[in-house]
Formats: sequence, C-alpha cells, structure tokens
Amino acid sequence: MDLSTVTDLVPTTDPAEWREGDAWLAGGTVLFSYGSQTLRRLLDVTSAGWPSLTATEDGLEIAATCTVAELYAFEGSAAAVPVRGRWSALDLFRPCCDAFVASFKIWNTSTVGGNVCTSLPAGPMISLTAALDGVAEVWGPGGARRAQPVAELVTGDMRNTLAPGELLRSIRVPDRALRSRTAFRRLSLSNLGRSGVLLIGRVDPPTGEGSTGPDGAGELVLTVTAATRRPVQLRFPPGAHPSAADLTAALDAAAADGADGAAGGESIWHDDVHGHPAWRRDMTYRLAEEIRAELVAPLDGAGTDGGPR
Ligand SMILES: Cc1cc2nc3c(=O)[nH]c(=O)nc-3n(C[C@H](O)[C@H](O)[C@H](O)COP(=O)(O)OP(=O)(O)OC[C@H]3O[C@@H](n4cnc5c(N)ncnc54)[C@H](O)[C@@H]3O)c2cc1C
Repeated sequence: MDLSTVTDLVPTTDPAEWREGDAWLAGGTVLFSYGSQTLRRLLDVTSAGWPSLTATEDGLEIAATCTVAELYAFEGSAAAVPVRGRWSALDLFRPCCDAFVASFKIWNTSTVGGNVCTSLPAGPMISLTAALDGVAEVWGPGGARRAQPVAELVTGDMRNTLAPGELLRSIRVPDRALRSRTAFRRLSLSNLGRSGVLLIGRVDPPTGEGSTGPDGAGELVLTVTAATRRPVQLRFPPGAHPSAADLTAALDAAAADGADGAAGGESIWHDDVHGHPAWRRDMTYRLAEEIRAELVAPLDGAGTDGGPR
C-alpha cells in the first residue's frame, strides 16, 4: 500500500466537507490495497456510529458501514429472532458473504457500502442487495438526498452513478423481498476463486390484491451478477410461470439491450482472469434455467418444463 500523498484523516459523513482529492474511507481494503498518487484526504465514515443492521416491519436497513462479518452474523443474532421465521431470504446472506472469498481480516473490516461503491462485477454485497431490490440512500452536498435501486446504481465494472462527493448512507431491503422464496447459484474457476457467475432467483409472497397470480405467488425475479459487468435483472409478473424458452428469450433480450444501451455498446458479459465471457454467458444460461426450474416447478405442481401458461 502506498498512500504517501494523503495528509489528513478526517472523521466525517458530511458531503459538504468533501473536496477534490478526498475519498470516503470505510474498511479501507480497496483504498489501502490499490494505493493512490492523487488522494489528499481520507474522510472516515466508520466514526459515524450508524447501527449496522436495523430490522423493522418494512424491512432491513443495512448501514453502509456494516461489515461483511456483521452481515454474516445477523441470521444467528438476537436482533434476527423476531424475523427469522418470516424472512426466508435470510438464507442468502451467508452464501453471499461466503462468495466474498477473503481473509478473516478483510471480512471484519470491509463494509457493505465499500463493496457496493467499489462496484466490481464480483461484488457479493451488490449481488445480495440488488437481488432483494435493495434501495440505496445517497447523501449529497447541501443536504441533498436521493434513493436508487442498487441494481441501477452499479452501472459497470468499477462504475456507478455516485457523483464526486456523494456518500452511500444505507441500503433498505424491503420486507416483501425478504419474505421471498430464493435460489442461489455461484461458480468460480477455482475452489477459492472470485465469483465468475452469481445468480439469485426469488419468488415473492402474495402482497395484496392484483399482485399475485392464481397460484398465490408473486413476481419472479432473476438477478445476474459477476458474469455481467453490472447487475442484470429479469422480472416475470405474478402467475407468468416462464418456460425454459421464455427464460432464454428474456436473457437474449437483456444481453442485446445491455450491449446497445447502459453498457455503452460493450458486451454485457464481463471479461477478466476470473472467467472468459463465453464461459460466463453459457453458465449464466445454464444456472438461470436451474433456478427457473427450482422456483417455477413447485408452482406448477410438477415438472420443470414451465407448466401451464
Ligand atoms: C484479499 C481480498 C479479496 C477480495 N475479494 C473481493 C471479492 O471477492 N469481491 C469484491 O467485490 N471485492 C473483493 N475485494 C475488494 C474489497 O475488499 C471489497 O470490495 C470491500 O467490500 C470494499 O469495502 P471497504 O469497506 O474495505 O471499502 P474501502 O476500501 O474503504 O472503499 C472502497 C471504495 O468505496 C468508496 N466508499 C466506501 N464507502 C463509501 C460510502 N459509504 N459512500 C461512498 N463511497 C464509499 C471509497 O472511497 C473507495 O473508493 C477483495 C479485497 C482483498 C484485499
């Protein structure tokens, strides 16, 4: 680590204090390992004292400063007792933390906010919070506040919508998504390698009149991360019961849209040492179909071919 240009460490969470040459500092596992020749000050957000995890009837608020270790421990904690039976999607928390293949030290210092703001395709906190429709609360200078789904905040490999000086305060995960039935799939090229493909599917519970199909299930949402430069979400309305062919068509369309639109003409499939784009693409289609079969088949009563439509 070489941060020889840094002269000040300032404990603050006020975006009004941000100026050119500053960086928000959370766990520091990226800032201290990548180094910098331009940074002048580090604005330390860990001094804020924000409660890491706050469970309410509306859902779970995850502070940007919540560490990966705290998120991992949540399911077994006293704070989770009132919601453990209701929030079936808590099952995703530990696999997503485990997908963060890192040492004990990294787990205990790196934060959910730092992971989202770094915006690596293999950011497992992005996978988790995007898949559960997490909404980021962002603070800007002059008391500005804005909210944006994590799936839209991350726009590419180490790219996001945060303007210079904007601070990620927290991510709110709605109760509806936390009560969903979920399926998780992850692949990497080696046993302890970084994620090359990470897919999460969920079927929401009934949330009220008009929000569910005849089978009583809600929306089916499939979120693709790690394989793609940014999160890609497919949404099938309540009762849609997508077939394998529907799923393939939706993935084809998302890949075509991404290439023409948000990815700026680039292929949506990520390319680095952790996986060739063609492999990532093929595995995404394969794992997406596994998830579709797992989540749709019980709604059909039997079979995995998509059933009645
Ligand atoms: C051994 C090792 C393994 C790793 N494995 C993975 C992996 O599998 N997947 C992966 O995605 N990453 C991985 N990383 C990278 C990194 O550890 C994680 O992305 C981590 O979650 C970053 O969090 P942090 O709190 O340490 O961020 P920091 O280093 O403190 O900050 C990272 C960036 O985010 C900005 N930032 C931090 N908090 C905020 C905020 N609240 N608002 C606005 N901006 C903010 C900082 O200014 C900086 O630009 C790994 C790193 C190491 C050293």
